[in-house]
Amino acid sequence: MIRMAVLFIQIAILVFAGVWLANEPGIVTVIWRDWRVDTTIGVIALVLGFVAVVAVVVSRLWDILRHGPVRFLSSHRANRERRGYRELTQGMISLAAGDAAGALRHARKADTLLDNPIAGNLLIAQAATLQGKTSLAKHHYEVMSDSGDAAIAGLRGLFEQAISDGDYDSAFRFGEKVRELQPDSEWVLLPLFELNIARDDWARADDVLAEALRRKVVAAETGKRDRALVLYERGISALEQGDAHAATGYLREAHDLDPKLVPAATVYARLLGDAGKKRRALRVLEQSWERNPHPSSAEAYLDTLQLDDPLDRYKAVHKFVSGDAESTDALLLTAEFALKAQLWGEARRQLDSLLQQNPSAAVYRMMVVLEESNDGHSDQATRWRDAESSAIGDKVWLCGECGARRANWKTRCDECGTFGSSQWRHPGAIASPNTLVSTAVLPLIGNTGA
Ligand SMILES: [Zn+2]
Repeated sequence: MIRMAVLFIQIAILVFAGVWLANEPGIVTVIWRDWRVDTTIGVIALVLGFVAVVAVVVSRLWDILRHGPVRFLSSHRANRERRGYRELTQGMISLAAGDAAGALRHARKADTLLDNPIAGNLLIAQAATLQGKTSLAKHHYEVMSDSGDAAIAGLRGLFEQAISDGDYDSAFRFGEKVRELQPDSEWVLLPLFELNIARDDWARADDVLAEALRRKVVAAETGKRDRALVLYERGISALEQGDAHAATGYLREAHDLDPKLVPAATVYARLLGDAGKKRRALRVLEQSWERNPHPSSAEAYLDTLQLDDPLDRYKAVHKFVSGDAESTDALLLTAEFALKAQLWGEARRQLDSLLQQNPSAAVYRMMVVLEESNDGHSDQATRWRDAESSAIGDKVWLCGECGARRANWKTRCDECGTFGSSQWRHPGAIASPNTLVSTAVLPLIGNTGA
């Protein structure tokens, strides 16, 4: 409109100029071939002006005809885009407000209005997930996972959906793809760690956890404890493949990371003993006992020393626990070996001490052995037997997550699948698990115990 107004003003100025010139005196003669015109300067100016105006008008009309449809279409497209982004915004607001149906409605409109399918797809997928329409969500995440820019967002959606569906093989595949496409994706590390554990893929689990520790995605203490468990499993795998050298390396690292991990210490010490490094082996077991007293450390200690005589074994055990000889664990151990060595006086002193501290069933069992060793005390033995039945249970390996008992330590609970949940405890005295796995993504994996 403004352009047309300017055009008419231009024409008006030319016309007025022409009329003014036409009224001025003076003659102009134009001769062209056999044709002669005598006229005033004003008429000539008017004719030239008229020709110029016609040329301008024709040129503008041509311009409008040529570009008009494009301008019309582009303004239409801009309008659609504006509406599309408005729908998208409203969809995101609905999603944040938990209104899945509203979000889905806006997302679908946005998807039809926008040329860019990524944003619409993402919103539809998330709204569909919120609404429980998993196959719809999956379809849109799949579309995204094939498009360069949005591939990670699509894969993340597929990954999370696979986990909530319990389809851990697919989740593993999507997670690995994410790491391949975008190695600095931190969100995928811990879930992928848990998936690798569930698959018994200890080498990969180790790799992912080491990366998580480097990137501080996991708390250092928790990460180290879990890594020690993974390295223990790597060591056991290496041993099964006959590679004692590699096994020793993994177990040494496991023991260094978590000296409280009794199984790693005992297997490591046995490997050191086999390699003729007895002093180092004994030191590892002493450290293990100091941090986390367990009878298996003492057994490995005696095996390393290769002692057969019961008296020698008692003396060695006494020395082994000498750092804290009056603790319950130390007294239980020494009383057991004193009885085996028939050191009745020693055994009685230790057992008397244990009877003062809420004794467990083993103390009463040993009292029975002690009384029966002295003829004529069978009444006492019967009383200790009765007391045993109401005593607290002896320490066993318990799952800190589900409470399942087992004779042997396990990296992962057979019952509930929780990783690192084994705790050496009296039954009914389970400490609450306090590790990485209490925030587990996968329901089948819990977390590490003490
Ligand atoms: Zn369990």
